[in-house]
Amino acid sequence: MKRLLLALLLPIVGTITAAPAPPYNSGFAQVKAHRATAVYLCANGKSVVYHSSRTCAAMRRCSHTVRVVSVSEATATGHRKCMKCY
Ligand SMILES: [Zn+2]
Repeated sequence: MKRLLLALLLPIVGTITAAPAPPYNSGFAQVKAHRATAVYLCANGKSVVYHSSRTCAAMRRCSHTVRVVSVSEATATGHRKCMKCY
């Protein structure tokens, strides 16, 4: 009786573990990559550079509000890449 039960259960367990990975995995990776293009600005009104990292040496000198924007927004407002963190 016990052996019969195992014979019935095994094929079910087999189909569960053989299930393919969810297809939305690759899409999620793209969203993460897009978010990684966020840059940091020091909102002191005279800074002309944007930073890839909030912990950049130049960024840490900023005593004003730190703004997080996209690269396209930073360049559209006249900012260029920081020489230290890019
Ligand atoms: Zn920097």
